[in-house]
Amino acid sequence: MKHVNLEKLDKIYPNAYFEFYAGCNEPGYDDKPMIIADWNHVPNHVFDKIESLGYACEWSDEWTNCSECGRGIRTIGDSYEWTPAYQLGDGEILCLDCIDPSDCYESLENNPNRAVTTEIAHKYPPEDYGYTLVTDDYVNDFHPGQNDDPKTILKLAREKSPEDRFLFVITFKAQFDMGFALYRKN
Ligand SMILES: [Zn+2]
Repeated sequence: MKHVNLEKLDKIYPNAYFEFYAGCNEPGYDDKPMIIADWNHVPNHVFDKIESLGYACEWSDEWTNCSECGRGIRTIGDSYEWTPAYQLGDGEILCLDCIDPSDCYESLENNPNRAVTTEIAHKYPPEDYGYTLVTDDYVNDFHPGQNDDPKTILKLAREKSPEDRFLFVITFKAQFDMGFALYRKN
């Protein structure tokens, strides 16, 4: 792949704030070198040229990179179905491959405001990490009567099994609703 001289580009387009990531680890995207920038400050022909060299050109306000492996991660959704494929830690962000699923799941236990996202649960099935499915058909949307509330669900579950730890997992996400499941570990 032909090298792109970012230092030179920085001098010509100082407001673009170019960044180079050696790869990409976002579901649905090819794992190839990325050049991230605010492309509003770069002429189209330069963008096209960089893309034609084989780089993925993406927007700096929608992407960041993994603290561990350096590959690109999308942080803003590009569809209604999108859910994060990363874990936010203490000052770090980990891509799907660099996550420690046991740590990740433990950090989300007994928290009605947090859930394992579909991408993470797909790659690391909670069953493989000691969790047992309790219910997988909760739905939350704008229709009255179809509004399962994680706070109420967790409260009841913990009253019933105070020794257990519970984990919410998103099962689907769409424009107007989302589904989620409850898992239990003892
Ligand atoms: Zn990574």
